[in-house]
Amino acid sequence: MAQNDDNLLKKIVAHAKEYGFVFPSSEIYDGLSATYDYGQNGVELKNNIKQYWWKSMVQMHENIVGIDAAIFMHPKTWKASGHVDAFNDPLIDNKDSKKRYRADVLIEDQIAKIENKIEKELNKAAKRFGESFDKDQYLETNPRVLGYKEKIKSIEDRMKAGLESGDLESIKQLILDLDIADPVSGSKNWTDVRQFNLMFSTELGSLADGANTIYLRPETAQGIFVNFLNVQKTGRMKIPFGIAQIGKAFRNEIIARQFIFRMREFEQMEMQFFVKPGEDKKWYEHWKETRIKWHKAMGISEESYRFHDHLQLAHYANAACDIEFRFPMGFKELEGIHSRTDFDLKAHEEHSGKKLQFFDQQDNQNYVPYVIETSIGLDRMFLAVMSSAYEEEKLEDGSERVVLKLPAALAPYKVAILPLMKRDGLPEKATEIMEELKYDFNCHYEEKDAIGKRYRRHDAIGTPYCVTVDHQTLEDQTVTIRERDSMAQERIPIADLNGKIAAYTSINQLLKKA
Ligand code: ATP
Repeated sequence: MAQNDDNLLKKIVAHAKEYGFVFPSSEIYDGLSATYDYGQNGVELKNNIKQYWWKSMVQMHENIVGIDAAIFMHPKTWKASGHVDAFNDPLIDNKDSKKRYRADVLIEDQIAKIENKIEKELNKAAKRFGESFDKDQYLETNPRVLGYKEKIKSIEDRMKAGLESGDLESIKQLILDLDIADPVSGSKNWTDVRQFNLMFSTELGSLADGANTIYLRPETAQGIFVNFLNVQKTGRMKIPFGIAQIGKAFRNEIIARQFIFRMREFEQMEMQFFVKPGEDKKWYEHWKETRIKWHKAMGISEESYRFHDHLQLAHYANAACDIEFRFPMGFKELEGIHSRTDFDLKAHEEHSGKKLQFFDQQDNQNYVPYVIETSIGLDRMFLAVMSSAYEEEKLEDGSERVVLKLPAALAPYKVAILPLMKRDGLPEKATEIMEELKYDFNCHYEEKDAIGKRYRRHDAIGTPYCVTVDHQTLEDQTVTIRERDSMAQERIPIADLNGKIAAYTSINQLLKKA
């Protein structure tokens, strides 16, 4: 896959719509920006990703439990968490195009351009030197590469200093100094940089009663922190332990584009792991390792993942990194792993007046635990899975097919049951097989169109197996089973179907590797 393949993203958006994975929200009214609906196949894929995460995180860990907290929370929650005062993005408008951008994203795009130049130098040198090329040495000694690296570092340092001190003028100056132009119009006529709070607010109760402003949660994490004591006491949890949650979050994103990568309503899968102060570094490393393993168990190419350490730490963190994924538009954040210290629990203690501590019987002392958070966007994971699975293949007979090579355990349907013809008792036999299999697998029955067409439709939605019922089936109780990726077909007894399909498509396959 090319690194910045706009075309691929367009194809995935079109494919997702055509095959019932993702639709623009309220499309009959021309859609609502940065809001999407999952269709009949999308919801299955999404549920399977959730199940894979939930099982590996909650059910496979004795010391992690799940909750499902409300989206609305007491307004003080967001004062305590820092979101009312500090959940801002620095935005800048172009006066000519009237387009609005995140100032930090404009600068990061500029850095990416310099990184591309390094990549080009590397490719040129690799060609020139052939087999004897030493990439690391080249990166450390080539003067042009060193110049680019220095430039990146100086930009990053200036951005970090400006954002951390809230000196927005210096961020604008950096944009001017880098000669950054509006990507749409090419204009360099910029407004000042302003801060913009990302939380959506609404009113609780009727206006006549003096309604209170409340927020739609911008992250699921706070629902976990405010329930720390409830879960710890009722679950008799001992440190270290974790609380996990999957749920919707809402952010009024300034730039909302790139399909389901950046939405205003999205879903997060978060886990907060409570540890003894001083052991946070160890657990931070542990969770980095555990999470990347979870990703790699899906069998997506390892080169599609990389860690990226945060330059600018959020107000609550003492260490943080992202797991980045190579999306069609380049490497971007898929998951965050954050060492949040005792910031959140302490802040909620202060604002609520309640003690949020753990009594450590071994040490005979109370303390506020430290927290390691793993936070992954479900929709971004969906896009990662879709974009790495999408393939256009030229077949030996000259024809083409589009196939979604989804990890079998995540595919919407595990098996399609297809009577070769709509007569001679074949549909009845196929239905009988389906009735057996549907307890264990999500199956799809189809009798319309030629068998080749039906195969293609199932390739396009990623169904790992197609089972064809023909006249021989009626005689000897065997069927043809066709595998999606290799298209290989074999004849097997109906009695063997369940075992074969389970062996390849069960989520346990992923869980054992993760
Ligand atoms: P970004 O820098 O891309 O805005 P973030 O650092 O603000 O992301 P976090 O606050 O760490 O993101 O949220 C955790 C995860 O939630 C992210 O890794 C991402 O997968 C997901 N996420 C955040 N914002 C969005 C969004 N607007 N749409 C979809 N997923 C999102």
